[in-house]
Amino acid sequence: MGKVYLQSVRLAIALVCVGASLILGAHWFGLIPDSTKANAKHRRQLSETIAMNAAAHVRKRQFVDLQTTVQTLVDRNPDLLSVGIRNTAGVLQVDSGHHAEIWEQQAAGKSGVDAIQVPITLRRAAWGNVELCFHAPETTVAGALAEHPLVRLLVFFCGVGVVAYTVFVGKVLRVFSNTQVVPERVRQALDTLAEGLLVLDEKARIILANDAFARTVDVATEYLTEMSADALPWQSADDESCQPVASEQLPWNLAIADSTIQTERMLWLQMDDGSRRIFSVNAAPLGGNGARRGALATFRDVTHIEEHRAELERMLMLLRSSRDEIEEKNRELEILATQDALTGCLNRRAFFERFGKRWTESKASGQPLSCIMIDNDHFKRVNDSYGHATGDEVLRQVSKVLKQRHGVNGIVCRYGGEEFCVLLPNMTFEQAIEQAEVTRQAISEIRLADPADLRLTASIGVSETRFDAEDPQELINQADVCLYAAKRAGRNCVVPFSPKLAEIEGDLSQHADRKGVEIPYQAVAALVATLSYRDAKTAEHSRRVADLCTRVASGFMDTYDLHLVEIAALLHDIGKVGVPDHILLKPGPLTKSEWEIMSRHDRIGVEIVESAFESPELTRIIETHHAFYGGGGREKHLPIGKDIPLAARLLTICDSYDAIVSDRVYRKGRSHEEAIAELRRCAPSQFDPDLVERFAAAISCNPNVEINASKNEAAIQIGYQVERLATAVDDQDAEGMKSLAARLGMYARSYNINAIAMAAQRIEIHACQEEIRWIELLKDTNQLLDICRATQTDLLRRSLDHSVDATR
Ligand code: GH3
Ligand code: MG
Ligand code: MG
Repeated sequence: MGKVYLQSVRLAIALVCVGASLILGAHWFGLIPDSTKANAKHRRQLSETIAMNAAAHVRKRQFVDLQTTVQTLVDRNPDLLSVGIRNTAGVLQVDSGHHAEIWEQQAAGKSGVDAIQVPITLRRAAWGNVELCFHAPETTVAGALAEHPLVRLLVFFCGVGVVAYTVFVGKVLRVFSNTQVVPERVRQALDTLAEGLLVLDEKARIILANDAFARTVDVATEYLTEMSADALPWQSADDESCQPVASEQLPWNLAIADSTIQTERMLWLQMDDGSRRIFSVNAAPLGGNGARRGALATFRDVTHIEEHRAELERMLMLLRSSRDEIEEKNRELEILATQDALTGCLNRRAFFERFGKRWTESKASGQPLSCIMIDNDHFKRVNDSYGHATGDEVLRQVSKVLKQRHGVNGIVCRYGGEEFCVLLPNMTFEQAIEQAEVTRQAISEIRLADPADLRLTASIGVSETRFDAEDPQELINQADVCLYAAKRAGRNCVVPFSPKLAEIEGDLSQHADRKGVEIPYQAVAALVATLSYRDAKTAEHSRRVADLCTRVASGFMDTYDLHLVEIAALLHDIGKVGVPDHILLKPGPLTKSEWEIMSRHDRIGVEIVESAFESPELTRIIETHHAFYGGGGREKHLPIGKDIPLAARLLTICDSYDAIVSDRVYRKGRSHEEAIAELRRCAPSQFDPDLVERFAAAISCNPNVEINASKNEAAIQIGYQVERLATAVDDQDAEGMKSLAARLGMYARSYNINAIAMAAQRIEIHACQEEIRWIELLKDTNQLLDICRATQTDLLRRSLDHSVDATR
C-alpha cells in the first residue's frame, strides 16, 4: 500500500507543476491583472484629488480645514505615509505630521518611501506643491517576491495542491489498482462459476465479486466493489433467532485474522424482499508467509437444500409426535379393551390374564391369595320390577362399591351378568372373610335416587390358596361353591370355604379327572393376540362368541365347564393364523381354491390347540364344534346328537349367531330376531334344539351388551401397525416400509377403511421406488397418522362416554 502512496505523491507533484505552469502562462499573456500598475494609477489619482482639494482650501485660506482633511486622509489610508502642502517659498503650510522628516529622508534618497509632488496654481500663477509620501515597494528580492501576488498564488497552489492531489490521486489509484488486481481473463472465468465468489482485501473490502454472487445477493457488481463484505446483513444460521453475526466471526475475517481455511460455515443473508438465503461459505486467506493480504470466499447457495432439510426435519418431528400420540391412544384403547363396558371393572379375559400372573407369584413367594365371589340376590326381580335400566344402574353402583373397596390392592372383575369376582393378593383367609363381610354390608347400604325404596343384598363366597387349589380355576370354583352355599343358606351372607363344605357340595369331585390339566390363560391370551395381529376381525368375532358362550352357559354350567367353553370359543378359529394374508384379509368373496386353503384352518386350529395345551377336552370341543346335531355335516367322521360335547354344541350356536348378526362384505348383518329364527329353523339338523332355546332365553335379555363389545380391536391393531410403519419410515427402513404398508393396506381394506388403505398404498409405492422421495413419503405418512389418530380419538371418545356412564 506504501507504494500506492508514493505514486500518489509523485503524481500530485506533477499535476501541481502543470497547474503552476498554466498560472505563469496566464500571467505572461496578461490574463492575470498587474496589481503594481493598478497601485501606481490609484496613487496618482489620489494625489490629483488631494491637490485639487488643497487648491480650493488655499484660495480661501482655510489652512486649518486643509490640515484636518489631510490628517484624516493619512489616517485612513495605510499606504499613505504623510502629506504636506508647501508654497513656492518652501514654507510647509500644512503637514500631516512628520511630513518634513519623511520628505527629507526620501529627498536624501533613502529607500522605503515613494514621493509624488503635484503643483498648486492660484490665479494662473504657481502657488506651491502638494507633497505625498507613500510606502515604497520592497526593494530586496525576497521581500519583493513575498509581496508579489503571483508568487503568493503559486506558493498557495503548490503547497495545498500537493496535499489535495495526493489524497485524490491516492483514491483514484486504489480503485484503479483494485480493479486491476484480478486480470480481466480471470475475472471472466470467475464469472462463469455457479458459486458466488468474493476476493477481499485485508480489511474485508470487496475487490472482486463474481456474477453469481451479485446475482444471488441481488446487488450490482459495481456497488459491491469497494464495499465491505461485513456490511451485508449476515445472520447466524445456528439458531432461529436471526441474530446478526459479529464481524470477527465471519468466516473471511477468521481466515484473514488466523490465516486459516474456513470450510462449510453456514450463514444466512437477509434479503431486501424479506426472504433469507442460506449459504455454505468457504474462506481461504490470501498472501503467504503470514502476510495478510485478504481472503477468497466462496458462497454456495444451499437455501433450497436447507429448506428441504428443514421441511424434512419438520415432517419427521410431526411424524414422531403423531406416532407417540397414537401409541398413547393405543394404550388407552387397550386399557378400555380390558374393561367391561357397563361397569368399568376388568372383563373376564383381562382378569384371567392377571390372575395367572398373581397365581404364579403367590406360588413362588408362598404369600396367600384370596378370592371372593359376589352375586347379587334376586337380581332378576330388579330387572323385572324396575326395568333393565335400573338393573344396569344397580350393577354400576355395586361395581363402584367393589372398586372403591378393593380396586387399589385387589383385582375386581365382572365375572358374569350380576356376578363379580375379587382377587386379593397377599391377603389371608381371615382378612378376606372380614373384607367380604364389609363388602356385603356396603352393598346392602346402596341406595338409588330412583327407586329410593330399592334394597340390595348379595351372597358371597370366600376361598384362599391355603386349601390347595391346583390352578386359578379351582380357587374360583372353591369360592363359587361357597357362593352357592350362601344362596342356599338364605342369601345375604358370607360363606368361607372349608374342605368339609366341598365334600357336602360334592362339586369338586366331579372334576377330579381334570386336576393337573391346567390351561394357562396367558398362553390362551398370547394365541388370541397372535390371531388379533393376523386378523383382528376374527379375533373380535372369537371374543364375541366367548362372551355369548359364557353368558348362555352361566345358567347351567359350573365354573370349570364355563371356563373351558370360554377358552374353546376364544380359540375356535385359531387355525386362521396358518392362512396366508392375501386370503385371510381378502375383502371380496374367495375363489374355490382359496376356500380350500381357508377350510384347512379347522385342522390347523385343532393341531395348535392339541400341541399347545394338554387338554383332550378342549381339543375335542374345537374338533367337534362344526358337527351337525342331526348328522350330515361336511365332515362325516364327527359325532352327532348328544355325543357332541355340550360345550361344542353351545359354541356352534354362538358362533353361528354372531356370524348371522355381523355385517359381511356381501350382506348386512341380520337382526337378533332374524338370527334366533334362523337358529330355530336349522335347529334339529344343525343345532341342539334345547340349547337354541336356552340361547334365545339368555340372549334376549340384553343382546346389545354382547354384540357391541370390543369394537376397539381393529382400531388398536391398525394403531399398532401404523405405529410400526411410522417407525420404519423414521428409521428409513425401505424393506420394513414395503411389507408393513402392504399388510396395513390389506388389513384396512378388509375393514373397508379406504382412507387408511389408500394412504398405506401410497407409502408402499414410495417405498418401492429406487429413489425414495422422502418429503412426499413423509407427507403421506403424516396423513396416514392423522387419519389413524382421528379414528382412535373418535373411538376413545365414544368408549369414554360409555365408561363415564359406567362409573356414574
Ligand atoms: P339369585 O339370587 O339366585 O342369584 O337370583 P338372581 O335373579 O340374581 O339370579 P339369576 O341368575 O336367576 O338371574 C340373573 C339375572 O341378571 C338375569 C339377567 O337378566 C340379569 N342380568 C345379567 N346381566 C345383566 C345386565 O347387564 N344388565 C341387567 N339389567 N341385567 C342383567
Ligand atoms: Mg343373582
Ligand atoms: Mg347369577
